[in-house]
Amino acid sequence: MTTVGILGGGQLARMLALSGAPLGLRFLVMDNVADACAGQFAPMVVGDYRDETTLAEFASRVDVATFDFENVPSESAQWLSERVQVFPNPRALATAQDRLAEKTLFQKLGIPVPPFAAIDTREQLDAAIAQIGTPCILKTRRLGYDGKGQFRIKTTADADAAWDALGAQASKVGLILEGFVHFERELSVVAVRGRDGEFRTWPLTENWHVDGVLSASLAPARVDSALAQVAYEHARKLGEALDYVGVFALELFCRDGELLANELAPRVHNSGHWTIEGSETSQFQNHLRAVLGLPLGDTRMVGLACMLNWIGEMPSATPVLAEPGGHWHDYGKLPRAGRKVGHATVRADSAQALATSLQRVGEGLGRQAQVDPVIAALARS
Ligand code: ATP
Ligand code: MG
Ligand code: MG
Repeated sequence: MTTVGILGGGQLARMLALSGAPLGLRFLVMDNVADACAGQFAPMVVGDYRDETTLAEFASRVDVATFDFENVPSESAQWLSERVQVFPNPRALATAQDRLAEKTLFQKLGIPVPPFAAIDTREQLDAAIAQIGTPCILKTRRLGYDGKGQFRIKTTADADAAWDALGAQASKVGLILEGFVHFERELSVVAVRGRDGEFRTWPLTENWHVDGVLSASLAPARVDSALAQVAYEHARKLGEALDYVGVFALELFCRDGELLANELAPRVHNSGHWTIEGSETSQFQNHLRAVLGLPLGDTRMVGLACMLNWIGEMPSATPVLAEPGGHWHDYGKLPRAGRKVGHATVRADSAQALATSLQRVGEGLGRQAQVDPVIAALARS
């Protein structure tokens, strides 16, 4: 009996555990809170990610370890990797945890990025704003997620407010200033790399964010196949450079038909949730296969799929379940503003059928604004 350890017990760990059950896998989740939602399906150890006693107990009970959460302290990942196999490797995790390190790697690999500069002091912020220009975004280098730890600078007059909001973080987690990209669309590549270096991607996904949080994803993205190939090639290079094992996502902006890399998520990704019902093998199943050294499953799609995120509280399931290709995922979390509590995937065999289903779901839930951009994309050729 193989036990997979997962650091972090959120919905990603929960969906990993659910997808691993048919493989006969056991799971052990470590989280710093006892009510983490993966704990409803897997035994847990609860403790701080830096606590050696908790980490030692976790390591002693698992055959291999992976992450649901990219902000596990890199020293803890390193400590664990000296005792048990850890995938992805701690270097890949450390690179993806730091926006400066990841953007530097993108550049080194010839993957275009928005202009950026590391910021340690107020003087550097002023100099970087002058150099990069406005609008731009000041971000924490580490620990940000769902758009947290970011300040949008519209004009140079916003520099004071940006520094008031994030300046104190400069000495703690570091800061980075990035040029604001007026993108036509956001895309992501969800990719998997096996222990033997075998590399696969799922079809390119188009994403819509609201207030910095993912709201909807559509696969395959409505872009031409040459652009998708460029995105897959960027992901392949990254996977090789990091000697990555498992699933990762590369977030991209598309501007004037060109791709700019935003960030790398060293784990299964929200923009890949549609793969559960929309592809031959889900990102969760393939992540487990990769970390266990099993053959990777086919990533081909079955039709088209749209994923809708539920933020804050769960809506009624009925309009989604009433659709022929409607699927429901409730993470079993308590409602809280801004929290990802569940998602739905709507699958169909044609763009027209998917648009019709989404229209009914939008009306049924009173969430037209969430489905409209996806329906508009489906109308594009
Ligand atoms: P995630 O939850 O994806 O990990 P995060 O907190 O790491 O989010 P980003 O992905 O950097 O943050 O930013 C969140 C969203 O804010 C992006 O998906 C995009 O919509 C917008 N955004 C971030 N950086 C830029 C930029 N340089 N130009 C334009 N929009 C941006
Ligand atoms: Mg991120
Ligand atoms: Mg992001």
